[in-house]
This record gives sequence, structure tokens and C-alpha cells, in this order.
Amino acid sequence: MSVRPPSVDALARSLADTGLPHPLLVDAARAAIADGRSEDIEELARRHAHAAARSLLQPVVNATGVLLHTNLGRAPLAVDAGADYTNLELDLSSGRRGSRHAHAAALLARLCDTEDAIVVNNGASAVLLVLAALANGRGAAVSRGELVEIGGGFRVPEVMEQSGAKLVEVGTTNRTRLADFASAVENPANDTVLVLKVHQSNYRIVGFTEHVTVAEMASLAVPVVADIGSGLVDAACPWLDEGPPSWLAGEPAARQSLAAGAALVTFSGDKLFGGPQAGIIAGRAELVQRCARHPLARALRPGSLVLNALQQVALAYLRRDGEAIEFWRMASLATSDLERRAHAVVEGSEAGKVEKMASVPGGGTLPGIEIDSWGVVLDGDHTAALRARTPPIIARVSEDRTWLDLRTVGLEDDRHVVAALKALG
Ligand SMILES: *Cc1c(COP(=O)(O)O)cnc(C)c1O
Repeated sequence: MSVRPPSVDALARSLADTGLPHPLLVDAARAAIADGRSEDIEELARRHAHAAARSLLQPVVNATGVLLHTNLGRAPLAVDAGADYTNLELDLSSGRRGSRHAHAAALLARLCDTEDAIVVNNGASAVLLVLAALANGRGAAVSRGELVEIGGGFRVPEVMEQSGAKLVEVGTTNRTRLADFASAVENPANDTVLVLKVHQSNYRIVGFTEHVTVAEMASLAVPVVADIGSGLVDAACPWLDEGPPSWLAGEPAARQSLAAGAALVTFSGDKLFGGPQAGIIAGRAELVQRCARHPLARALRPGSLVLNALQQVALAYLRRDGEAIEFWRMASLATSDLERRAHAVVEGSEAGKVEKMASVPGGGTLPGIEIDSWGVVLDGDHTAALRARTPPIIARVSEDRTWLDLRTVGLEDDRHVVAALKALG
């Protein structure tokens, strides 16, 4: 006689306290039964349900010290979830159909001190749309030193191919001069309609090098498109009381690139801009409008959740309120405060040691740049146990020690770190 298999439904219902919807509990119950071990079947099903819950998108505590951590959604974001309609495409003064570019995008243009802007889904789509709208079937000239791969599959030559633009390679890997661009633009065979400057973002060429600046490129007969990537809005950082931090050195900024003569800039919303995943195209109205009218713009447009989050960040910049932009608040924390918090965590948890460490901007920006920080170090690798907490705590391991950098830990989250370290005991 075979043992009667447990009822899937009964097993699923016994897991109701997990809060997961019934169909997911049924999946967990089926998986447990399929595992075939009759003893502790409920415990097994509970583990499957737990794994399902862990796979959901959820807040985590970032103790890695990487401010823009690609695996953790890059810039930290406050989302207020209201179930409201919005005036996404309604002009409230006339009552007529409005434009979804009238809110966040208009503020972004204002921030960049330029004529117009539109928002798309990410930095890669911004570059794709600009090239498709302005250079389809025509030539776009790029320095060979800027034919970069940013990561996550963004490779300039491939994006260019997808856009239908013809890549006109200029200069060499380490040295490109204005004269190289001028001859590429003047050669009718190239049919060059724009020159593209791509920020190298995640790597540097050092030594015997030469680059052409946006200001120099602006002397050419065609528009300059500057893919600055990271989304630093203004090199003067007026939203920070202390002005630009030293670690920002040399990062191209939207406002200054446009002032130097770029016709358009493109950048990500979730890198140094500190907003949601988005791509921004800002600059001359006529060119921005050509992008907005291209059929791809419809396919790449973000929804009101993203535009709303982007608008909040843009308003904070216009108020010069860096404290309200979580990325900049964290990036600007004083080391003395971080050291104090680290001592409080060690005292509260009676675990680990306070140590000086280095945060990094991350997100493929500012390679090799470190920002002084403080945190807690434990002997051994405790990352799995920390990740298993609710909320999960993401830490870093080096030399068989676990490093928790407090710069990237939200102010409200030190208590989670204390509780987790105490539990490691
Ligand atoms: C990051 C980056 C991109 C890609 O932006 P995503 O928002 O990741 O799509 C493109 N160009 C440059 C220069 C970048 O730094």
C-alpha cells in the first residue's frame, strides 16, 4: 500500500501565513511533493514558499559602499505609491490633450539651461533614439577612443548599427584631433550629419593620449551630440553646500557640455543624477522635437511612475536641495558622522570592529575613484546570513572579512544592521 500523497491544496493553505497569494503557495506545495520526501513535507513546502518570497522585488540594505550598485537598482529611490490618476497627457489650463514631456522633461531642460528635453527609458535608449532620429542612413562620426562598451550590453558600434546610422570612425584609440573630425566631416563620402562624443565612463586611457573637447567639436559644420552618460547636471553642484566634491573631478556635466556647444546631451536618470531608471535627451528644441516625433520615441517612452520620480528629483535640484536627493545625501555624508554611526552599531550589536574604508560611486562611473568612509568589519564571510535577513543586508567580502560600509546604509536602516550583527552572535 502506498502512502496517500498529501493534498496540494491543504499543504498550500497551511502556508497562508507567509502572505503569498494562493497560486504561488500551490506551486510551493507541488514543488515540495515533487521533491518526494514525505517527512517534513510542510517544512519543505515552507522553504519553497520562502524562496518564492525572496525572489520578489523588495527593499534591501546596501552595506557595500557602492553608491550606484547596478545589482541593487543603481540610485536609491523614494517612491510614494498612491493610486492616483495624473495629468500625464492633459493640459490642466486648456483642458486639451497635453504632452508627457511637459512635466519632468521641461524641468530637466530648465536645469540644463537649454531649450528642450524629453525622457525615455534609459541612457541606452536615449542614444539609440538620437541616432535613429537624426542619423538614420547617414553618417555619425565618433572617435575610435570612444567606441566603448559601458556594460550590460551597451556597445556604441552596436547601438549605432541598430539605429541605422553609419559609423564614421575618426582618429585612433589613444589620440584623436579636431583635424581628424574636420576631414571626416568634410569628406562627402561619409555623409556625416552629426558628431558623437561618448564619455568613456568606466575606463580611462592614460599616457600618450589626445581627446577633442565638446567646445572644439562645436566648431565643426554638424551638430555635436554628447553622451555624457552619468547625468551630472551641473559641474558647479549648486545643490551641495560645499560645492563639487573632489571625487567628481573631470566628470562631464550636462549644463557645461551644452554651454560649450553640444547641440544635444544624453544621460541616464539613475546614475549621478540620482533618480529613477530613465534616459534624458536635452538640448536644441528642433533636434529634441525630431527625436520626440520619431516612431521609436513611442516605444521608448516611460510611464507616469518614472516621470513622477524624475520630477521629484528635478524639483529638488531646482531648490538646490541635495539633502532631498538620496544619492547626493549619502555621497556627502561627513566621515565623522559615519565613524560615529559605526561605533554605535558595534556597541549596539556587540559584534565587529569599527574601521575606515572606501566607498565608490559605482554604476560604471568614475573608475578608480574612492570616497573615504567608515563601517564595521567582521572576521569571516557572513554575507549569506546577512542576505537571508529581512530586509536583506548586502555586504562585501575581502580577505575573508565581511565589510559593512555605512555610507550607503539608509539612516533608518542602522537598526537592521545592529539586529543582524547581534543575531550572528
Ligand atoms: C551608462 C551609460 C550609458 C547607458 O545608460 P543606461 O542608463 O545604463 O542605459 C550610455 N552611455 C554612457 C556614456 C554611459 O555612461
